[in-house]
Formats: sequence, C-alpha cells, structure tokens
Amino acid sequence: MPDDRLSISADSRWRVTRREALAAVGGSAVSVWTGSDTSSGTAVDTETTAGHRDGLVRIRVYPDAVPFRARLRYGLGDLRGNWPTPFRDALAAIESAFEHVLAYARERSRLEDLVVRVDRASPIRVPPSTTSLSADAVLPSLEALLRRFRERVQSRGALTGRTCHVLLCWSPLNYRVGYGGTLAPNSVTGMDDGGDGDALTVANVGATEVWDSRPVTQNIAIHETLHTFLSDDVVRSIGNAYCDHELGTAVRTAQNTLRISPMATAYAGPNRIGGGTRFHGTGCYDHDRFVRHDGHDGIENWVYTTEPSDATQEGVTRYLERRFER
Ligand SMILES: [Zn+2]
Repeated sequence: MPDDRLSISADSRWRVTRREALAAVGGSAVSVWTGSDTSSGTAVDTETTAGHRDGLVRIRVYPDAVPFRARLRYGLGDLRGNWPTPFRDALAAIESAFEHVLAYARERSRLEDLVVRVDRASPIRVPPSTTSLSADAVLPSLEALLRRFRERVQSRGALTGRTCHVLLCWSPLNYRVGYGGTLAPNSVTGMDDGGDGDALTVANVGATEVWDSRPVTQNIAIHETLHTFLSDDVVRSIGNAYCDHELGTAVRTAQNTLRISPMATAYAGPNRIGGGTRFHGTGCYDHDRFVRHDGHDGIENWVYTTEPSDATQEGVTRYLERRFER
C-alpha cells in the first residue's frame, strides 16, 4: 500500500503495516474487510533480545468453536470434537511447512539440533467484549481478538517467551479480522518487539473455508504462522525484500495456471474481488518485487502449494538460526 511504502521510506528502522484486508461485496452494499496483519513494528536485534537457545521451538495451535451449522458441511464425522476437518488440515499444513523448512536447512547442514514442535492446544473460546455497546462486542477487530486470545493463553499459564500461539478462528463474516494476521507487539516468535517473546497470530479458517477453498485455508494457516518467524531484518537480508509477502512466489505452470506459495497467498492476484483468493490482501506487497511472480494476465486457474518458496524457507531458517540456535 502506498501509505506503507511512505512509512517504510520515511523510517530508517523499516516499519511496515501489513493488512490482509479484504473487500467483501454483498448485494449492492460494499463492505470493506479491513482485517489487519501487521507483524511488524520496530524490529530491534540486540543481544538482550537474542531469544532463548535451548533448541526447542514451539507452535501451539488452538481451535476456535465451530457452529453446528458450519460443521454440517463437513459430514457427520465432524459434528463432534474440537478438530473438524478444516482445522486438522490447517494444522497439518503448518506442520508440513516446518518439515519443509527443516529439510531445506538440514540439506545445507543448518539447524541440525533444532527441534520444532507443533502442538494441538486445547480449544480456546475468546469471549466477546465485556463492553456490550462497543463495536467489538458485535464484530471484534483483529486487535481485540488478539488481545483476548492473549489473555486466555496467559490465564492458562501457556506463555513461555518463545512460543508461537496460532488461533484457528471461525469468523467467516468478520471483515475486521479478514483472513487473519498478527500485530506488534507479540508478532515475532521469541523476539521482544515490545512484547515478551510469545507471538500470537490468527488464521480465519471460517473465512477461507466459506469464501475460498481448502488449499487457501492451508496456505493462510501457514502464511499467518510464518509471519511470526520472519523478522524485518531477516526479510530485508533476502534480496532486500520490503515485506514478508515478497518472499512468496506465483509461478505459471501452464498458460492459464498460476501456482501460489504460502507467503504470496492473498497477494498474488490482481487487487480486486476474486483475484486469486476471493479477497485481496491490502498489506504491503509489490508483484515486481516478489522473488518470483510470473504475472496474472490470462490466468484462469489458481492453484496452491503448501511448500514455502526457497526464499521463504531461507528466511525462516535464518530467523531460527539467529533467534534459537546456539
Ligand atoms: Zn500476510
């Protein structure tokens, strides 16, 4: 976004506001999805914030409540339990993304002692605002959702100073949350960006399932998780990228088919309704700066790979090395 770019060039400490904002059209009314995804703030890499170094990195994934009516679409087997199919598939996608990253790293004799654990956490119910007359009581903003998510995690004693907490939420109509996101502080795992090292992020599985498809669900789950493993300094160190999204790829695999990797998901298409994903992210991005973007002219088929691009895998590897390795 132009504003983001202005703030980037005006700020020597590279600050960027990412917005996975969505625009939804319903009838004649246009409502703009402005869920934000700011995983930035000022990233300061100093000795005092150098993170913890015992070789274990945790990602805890929390399922939200899914209404009975929504569960019906997944069949009888999904009417009970806390992990209906889309949540299981989102979790599996996050696991597979880290498997890819660790395989990438180990092929290069890096991160050989690092263990990444992706855990199922017990369900979390983020209560509505206690201020009944506020807009947040009806439709929580991403900020409010993340704040309440954090309060719940904290009340469980699950804050460790080095864990990424992922909320798989089900809010298909909440345009304020959009596809999800993370906000500083608490937007980078293991790093003090004004918080305490625990990152919190939201993937709105309800939105991707209702408006898009399972592959988009999986990629957004990866996307919102990996934001918390890509600090500004690391992203900048890769091809002088401005933002995490530029580490994604959009590869033309046939004349009318574009294959999107996770960090480019919601950003690879034209900035309009139905450009790849139903809604387009309005955060920081520039197709010309993507590590690879083959253009979307004439594209009719949008396909998704859960394998992060090499640039993304290199970024996460560098981040894990700097933050968690001895
Ligand atoms: Zn993003």
